[in-house]
Amino acid sequence: MHQPYCPEEFWSQDQLRAVQNTRLQTTVEAAARSPFYRQRFAALGICPQDIRSVEDLRQLPLTTKDDLRAAYPDQMLARPRHEMVRLHASSGTTGAATVVYYTANDLVAWADLVARCMHMTGIRPGDTFQNIAGYGLFTGGLGFHYGAERLGCLTIPAGAGNTKRQLKLLEDFQVTAVHIIPSYALHLASAMEEMDFAPQRLALRIALIGAEPHTEAMRRRIEDFFGVKAYNSYGLSEMNGPGVAFECPEQSGMHLWEDAYLAEIIDPNTGAPVPEGELGELVLTTLTREGMPLLRYRTRDLTRFLPGTCPCRRQHRRIDRITGRSDDMIILKGVNIYPMQVERVLLGIPEVGQNYLIILEREGHLDQMRVKVEIKDEYFVEDMRVLKGLQSRIASQLRDELLITPRVDLVESNSLPKSEGKAVRVQDLRPKE
Ligand code: ADP
Ligand code: ZN
Repeated sequence: MHQPYCPEEFWSQDQLRAVQNTRLQTTVEAAARSPFYRQRFAALGICPQDIRSVEDLRQLPLTTKDDLRAAYPDQMLARPRHEMVRLHASSGTTGAATVVYYTANDLVAWADLVARCMHMTGIRPGDTFQNIAGYGLFTGGLGFHYGAERLGCLTIPAGAGNTKRQLKLLEDFQVTAVHIIPSYALHLASAMEEMDFAPQRLALRIALIGAEPHTEAMRRRIEDFFGVKAYNSYGLSEMNGPGVAFECPEQSGMHLWEDAYLAEIIDPNTGAPVPEGELGELVLTTLTREGMPLLRYRTRDLTRFLPGTCPCRRQHRRIDRITGRSDDMIILKGVNIYPMQVERVLLGIPEVGQNYLIILEREGHLDQMRVKVEIKDEYFVEDMRVLKGLQSRIASQLRDELLITPRVDLVESNSLPKSEGKAVRVQDLRPKE
């Protein structure tokens, strides 16, 4: 076992529980000083002193993204605004943005968490780290940046996009570790193929991939192409950003740092806790944040706690890879579908290239799903019959997984729109009711 980054990393469940109890009290008292929670506590007759331990957690109300929007721009602050030194906003993937503030202490705690995650994957002082993520309001930029510096890596703030420049930096500085959004990693891979840029020219060892849902097949493609180990990274701006949960070298679920966040998994429809090990919505409470504590925040991300303990001996519970957001779900002809089901099928087919797009459309009164699939160049030159065969093979594998039959369009590699940030996997062209 390698040296821990900090003692918290190997705390026992009992140690964690004791710290959670005291930190929860502090957090609830702090939250009660914010205009938002003061009002909510008053309306519900909650007295912060009544929350004495994690057992009392369920007396507290859930906090939603809409609550954050209603509290815009600063009703969630638990301390005077002049004590805040940074703000970030969520990328607004699903609507109006929400804002998160940090005090100087919050920033130090956050950088430490990110450094802990990076260290867990084997990154060390002396590694050269390229952060291929948008700098700005997106937390994946500055979040990893300060984490990497804190750990002692030579840190290259490359930002998002500009594939040629990314490659030049990776090669010239013999970068050993990167943070990169998985869809962009595959885009970089196909750009390298097109340029005949051999991955062996790079010195990469480790890729930290996250910020968007992706499948095991996607991870494997990234690992195989670049010759790296790729570790899943989970976080959200409302909980600081990256550094909430991260894979260890076992690559089997993400340890959620329970000294910093209190986690529950609930049934998104009823709000009740799901039985241990079942899929539900992740709900998080900050335990160390002073500027903007959040209580029982509904992430809308679907996951489950993995049973058992990890061979790495860290006792922080592990969550499974995020299946999607509760609001990502597509309902088509009465069937519930998640984009990740489509990805799982597509990326398991060797002829399929690096990008795909799901289009929902209406024909007459019927909703249809069309899946545009990039095909690797070497297969695109095949004759028509072979392509037709491939098309129907993809359609039938999708039908087996989704229980509806989508139309499949084969397109050339690099022809689908790509985003520099999180990938947009679904285009809904159905007329609004
Ligand atoms: P937005 O909610 O606007 O996308 P954020 O940048 O805060 O803004 O993104 C956080 C969200 O990104 C998470 O709630 C989750 O849905 C998604 N996400 C982050 N990391 C992962 C990951 N490793 N796997 C799947 N989804 C992730
Ligand atoms: Zn582990």
